[in-house]
Amino acid sequence: MSELTFTPVIGIEIHIRLKSDSKIFCSCSTNTDAPANTNICPVCMGLPGSLPHLNHRVVEQGMLAGMALNCGIRPKSLFFRKSYFYPDLPKGHQISQCDLPITTSGYIEVHDSEGNLKKIRVHHLHLEEDVGSLHHSASDGRLEGADTSYVDYNRSGTPLAEIVSEPDVASAAEAVEYVTTLRRRVIYSGASDVELEKGMMRFDANVSMKCSDGRWGRKVEVKNMNSFKALERAIEYEIKRQKKIMLSGGEVIQETRHWNDSKGVTTGSRLKEFYRKFIVEPDLPPLYISQEWVNRVRARMPEMPDVRANRYVSEMNLPREVADFITDDKNLADYFESCVKAGANPVRAAHWVRTEVLRVMNEKQLKIQNFMITPEVLAGLVNRVDEGKLSTTQGKEVFDYMCANNCGVDEAVKNLGITEGGVAGSALDEIIKSVLAANPDVLNEIKSGLDKKGKKLKFLQGLVMKESKGQAKPQEVAEAIANAVK
Ligand SMILES: [Zn+2]
Repeated sequence: MSELTFTPVIGIEIHIRLKSDSKIFCSCSTNTDAPANTNICPVCMGLPGSLPHLNHRVVEQGMLAGMALNCGIRPKSLFFRKSYFYPDLPKGHQISQCDLPITTSGYIEVHDSEGNLKKIRVHHLHLEEDVGSLHHSASDGRLEGADTSYVDYNRSGTPLAEIVSEPDVASAAEAVEYVTTLRRRVIYSGASDVELEKGMMRFDANVSMKCSDGRWGRKVEVKNMNSFKALERAIEYEIKRQKKIMLSGGEVIQETRHWNDSKGVTTGSRLKEFYRKFIVEPDLPPLYISQEWVNRVRARMPEMPDVRANRYVSEMNLPREVADFITDDKNLADYFESCVKAGANPVRAAHWVRTEVLRVMNEKQLKIQNFMITPEVLAGLVNRVDEGKLSTTQGKEVFDYMCANNCGVDEAVKNLGITEGGVAGSALDEIIKSVLAANPDVLNEIKSGLDKKGKKLKFLQGLVMKESKGQAKPQEVAEAIANAVK
């Protein structure tokens, strides 16, 4: 009997906090870091008699996020009440577009295990409100072992987009690429900053297994992942767990399991599923979106990161890895492009941005938007190095000086005492002459043909470069020395 093989069948649900200063159904601030229960009102507390009012800015953010996932926008969508009882939900129901959502289907492209592009279909994106947050008194912040729990309703009513994929994901690696690509596209669209460390993106995964003998395992919903790493580990764990059950002839039970990140396991939920009931929200009319509104929002959509990366590869000759790296951060890519627009060679500019600019950003904990050297000034510096007016070493010195002193290239060059054009001509000949005179043994070895690998020649070049304080051009030095030892 041939060995059994298993194919994972995975669908992913993602919650993303949409960018908006005010909540989805009231004018309270969305600042969840404010002191507990200060950004609340009768609407987001669900007090009797209060009426929700839809924030149109949130609708536009939802449209942008949907467009980033290649979804269409539905001309009419509805809001529902999803009823359940839990302390984080004071009104006893959450307003959500669980049925008839704002978008139609879309897709995100990822690479399968053979490196081919495949589409992960997005079933839809819908708008909903977030619930309050619970803080438990136990030392690890978990519910277990806590004797008191506190509720903060600042988060109640902050706008969310829930994105539901079709079960097209076949591995943990595909899942990670799907959420990474999706996150990047949503950030580009301006719909959300999706700061992971602030809990702006949360994941649930539906995992089941298909066996080569025709058996299908039941679907298990895994909850509670809030990082890419947690998503990857939880899926890997669940695949292994279900495979083991099916290999031993057992049956996977359909259930909701919780990911325990510190223990690295999923555990069955002892809590019963909440009773959930959906009714159309009587306090909100249907949401109508005209084609004209869609067009207006679509006009705001920037070029998507993968499209941008492809353009860098095809039009600017950037290596794929560099193009992906730069487009990963929209602001960094904007900076790079301004630098190219100002006349810098793209490949060289990309190199400078990746090495020097990023190094200083990390050292000084700066965002690229606040970087002290403008892309236009950097372009000037890159060009001077390219034209050979400054050596690479000098270029870096100038760069560091500009960062430290907030000045332009000319001032840095002047204050550092650098002679543009570097050490060349007779000044270079002088240095070579003195280096050769100081190293007669090395010179003899080269002349008698003992330096087969050219190591001694390199050694002399190094000495000359050092002597010129990095102001000579390496190619010129190499040529001049080769001539001198003939
Ligand atoms: Zn409110």
